[in-house]
Amino acid sequence: MSFPNDDGAFRAYIRAWLEEHYAAFVAQWPADPDPRDLAFRRAWENKLCAHGLSGLGWPQAYGGHALSLAKQAIFHEEHALCGAPLGVNLIGHGILAPTLLHFGTEAQKREFLPGVLSNSTIWCQGYSEPSAGSDLASLRTRAHRDGDSYVLNGHKIWTSFADLADWCFVLARTDKAQPRHRGLSFLLVDMSLPGVRVQPIRQLTGEAEFCEVFFEDVRVEARYRVGDENQGWKIAMAAASYERGTYFLPRLVRFRQELDDIRGWLAHESVATRRRWARLAIDSHVLGLKTRRALRQAMSGGPPGPEGSSTKVHWSEAHQALLDFAVELLGDSVCLDAPGEDARKAALYTHAYLWSRAETILAGTSEIQRNIIAEKILGLPKGA
Ligand SMILES: Cc1cc2nc3c(=O)[nH]c(=O)nc-3n(C[C@H](O)[C@H](O)[C@H](O)COP(=O)(O)OP(=O)(O)OC[C@H]3O[C@@H](n4cnc5c(N)ncnc54)[C@H](O)[C@@H]3O)c2cc1C
Repeated sequence: MSFPNDDGAFRAYIRAWLEEHYAAFVAQWPADPDPRDLAFRRAWENKLCAHGLSGLGWPQAYGGHALSLAKQAIFHEEHALCGAPLGVNLIGHGILAPTLLHFGTEAQKREFLPGVLSNSTIWCQGYSEPSAGSDLASLRTRAHRDGDSYVLNGHKIWTSFADLADWCFVLARTDKAQPRHRGLSFLLVDMSLPGVRVQPIRQLTGEAEFCEVFFEDVRVEARYRVGDENQGWKIAMAAASYERGTYFLPRLVRFRQELDDIRGWLAHESVATRRRWARLAIDSHVLGLKTRRALRQAMSGGPPGPEGSSTKVHWSEAHQALLDFAVELLGDSVCLDAPGEDARKAALYTHAYLWSRAETILAGTSEIQRNIIAEKILGLPKGA
């Protein structure tokens, strides 16, 4: 697949492609597709990959398109604007692949990148543990070297898509004697190995998108360690920064689409209610500016700054406020399971409202982001 060079022409090309293919994809889906349905999301993601719309920023040597960050941002924005859902291999495309491109051996790149490109290998991220979330460096999962393998034992939790995933990248302690951040290694673990057990966790929304994962004497070949032994922290921190610049784009587009929906419901509402909408519209505008600033900074090659914490807190809390508002306006209909377009919309908003409770927790809680803002942006002393 080759793309127009000019950014404007690229946008027009992607928009036209998505309009045609997403509509056709929805039309051939049996029954009315639910954008939350993981099978629907995965099938659409597969279609994008089959058409060569993956690996957008990767080097051509690994099957990518080596597109600029500006073009990648255009793709993500247009993809959200056409109403298509996020995929299920976000971790494979957004975190694992760039990590391997930066830190992997040639053999690891050749073994794993094709599966991400085609979407045939789904990845999950095994960092958090029952006593190690915000304080990730206190994790206890351990891997001890035994010949050409590591023997992995431990318990991960909140592992998104673990029940669908073929592989997981795991942070494990390989040297207990070293200071907390130093004795960790980054291992690629085949989820079908003996000793791996996955236990889905039922969420408030009724779905089970994340899981507990137990490792009991799992033998992981040493060639599946990324980077040097005990250097896993550095890799995990770098991995967290790869989506910088594009992570918020689809979320921001969704925010704007939801604001438009809500505006349509305001005709007979009070001035106070309309003011509440205006406040959210201002949030949307400011978030757009923050996202553009982060993108520009990433394009200029600057290191990720603490400003990302401000965008995360702002987006997640404003989105919760927006969905609180939507659910109040929808009133009793959020509780009805009735046929028809209105009920369908109410069900989608109810789901989004319940799901949004997670948004101030995942990828660093609001309290942790505020600590970062306090210390790194405002220069306040570190808390006790
Ligand atoms: C939808 C979702 C998907 C997720 N997916 C994954 C995944 O795929 N892989 C993965 O590894 N993890 C995943 N996580 C886990 C996520 O990273 C953690 O939930 C998060 O880091 C918080 O850790 P915790 O849940 O252990 O809470 P804790 O760290 O135990 O925090 C509990 C409370 O204490 C507060 N707190 C903790 N430390 C401080 C402090 N120093 N100062 C002030 N307040 C503090 C927190 O803000 C929070 O309110 C996911 C979480 C969610 C909600």
